[in-house]
Amino acid sequence: MGQKVAAARRRTAFLQPATLKSGRFLGSLSDSPKSSEKRRLKRSHSIMFSPSSDLLICGGGIAGKACALALAQIGLQVTLLGARPAAALPTQGYAQRLYALNAASRQLLEELRVWPQMPPERIQPVQAMHIRADGAQLAFDARDARSEALAWIVESDAIETALDLALRFERRVVIDPAQAARLSRLTDPSGQTVWQVQTTDDRTLQTPLLIGADGEHSLVRRVSGIAMDTHDYLQRGVVANFICTAPHEGAAFQTFAGGGVIALLPLAPLQGQAMVSLVWSAPEALALELLALSPEALAQRVDAHLPALRAQHLGPLQATGPAAAWRLQRQLARRTVADGLVLIGDAAHRVHPLAGQGLNLGLQDVQVLARTLQQRGVGQAVHDPRLLRRYSRARAEQVLALATTTDALARLYGAGSRVPGPLRALGLQTANALPPVRQLLTRYASGLPYLA
Ligand SMILES: Cc1cc2nc3c(=O)[nH]c(=O)nc-3n(C[C@H](O)[C@H](O)[C@H](O)COP(=O)(O)OP(=O)(O)OC[C@H]3O[C@@H](n4cnc5c(N)ncnc54)[C@H](O)[C@@H]3O)c2cc1C
Repeated sequence: MGQKVAAARRRTAFLQPATLKSGRFLGSLSDSPKSSEKRRLKRSHSIMFSPSSDLLICGGGIAGKACALALAQIGLQVTLLGARPAAALPTQGYAQRLYALNAASRQLLEELRVWPQMPPERIQPVQAMHIRADGAQLAFDARDARSEALAWIVESDAIETALDLALRFERRVVIDPAQAARLSRLTDPSGQTVWQVQTTDDRTLQTPLLIGADGEHSLVRRVSGIAMDTHDYLQRGVVANFICTAPHEGAAFQTFAGGGVIALLPLAPLQGQAMVSLVWSAPEALALELLALSPEALAQRVDAHLPALRAQHLGPLQATGPAAAWRLQRQLARRTVADGLVLIGDAAHRVHPLAGQGLNLGLQDVQVLARTLQQRGVGQAVHDPRLLRRYSRARAEQVLALATTTDALARLYGAGSRVPGPLRALGLQTANALPPVRQLLTRYASGLPYLA
């Protein structure tokens, strides 16, 4: 009983304005480190106090929404800040933002009951991947991964729509669409750290555990003082979708060309038409040139690279819409935890998209964080520093290994590379000739335990 009271005391006191109508926002305050501050806010905003939440997630992208669901599923009360409903899926063609999800991400989304909510006719399994450069090739097959597919190509909005649906039925999650405008760290009378969040609509929330899922410009990371190692690739990821002439048979194609990386990812057929998605990680000047082209002219530029991709059979390509682009950087937070604070997803790490692993890493953060918090001892608070350190240690190796590998590949084939083409070709050929190496790489990219 005493433990229960102590656990309840450790929970968050969230302050909410009367304008938020959901019953889940109403209730009584369990505790607050600053009662004078509380009284002041009550006077200024006619605040209503919510029932206790165990933690607050700042950032409602895919990582934040998945994290809210995963932590609710282990019995925690969650407030999710900054979550907006997903955009509707286009009726003609595909959205520009598509992801290759690996087996570990699929497993998590299945556990969260999100995967079955995504339209199966818009999900394309990747059966094979052909990487070509300097006249050599490296080929992966789903059988190497002992999986039904190497990855699944899904639209970002399809994942978010399914997450939104699952969240609507999760009574342990309070969704707050406001953003965090300011954050500060307070110490309560017992010496415990409490994070105070000022929202963009001028409310004040407090939490003993703040999870930063607020993406590359993370306010949570900046306020916590956690330093970030950043490398600018001086490239942009140019994306566009095309109808292709022949079926792709679930194969993805990638080649290193002109100081960048060109990838064609298979999409599920729409209205009986085979389609592919282009991700061209191009040096800045080339990216701007590609973005300035008409969709038809861009299709012709990609057609010119089909022989290098050994994907001539797919051409000529037919554009379905304009291109979009994102700046490419590698960013690694020096730490992913601090006092009462955890970083997940792009707030903690961004990697070059050549291996299509950024979001996969973020979803694995979610899985490991949920498992770590679930395994806490009886009466152990969710913000216990030992738990947070355990999470941080569990994520460090995979994140660093992936960031280093993608970084090495981007530099090896980048504009300034000093490694001669024949030497690079030898490396690729050697890896291709060794099935155990291919299996290990494939297994590693799947996100599943790779020695299993
Ligand atoms: C060209 C390209 C291709 C890619 N392809 C792949 C791929 O195939 N597979 C893959 O796994 N990854 C891929 N990635 C990486 C992937 O896009 C990211 O890793 C992923 O989108 C990160 O998700 P996130 O939820 O961590 O961050 P975000 O998507 O950035 O979400 C952050 C959220 O936080 C919110 N927010 C920000 N500030 C605040 C605040 N102050 N208060 C409240 N909320 C806030 C934002 O509104 C947003 O909703 C690719 C990236 C690029 C650039």
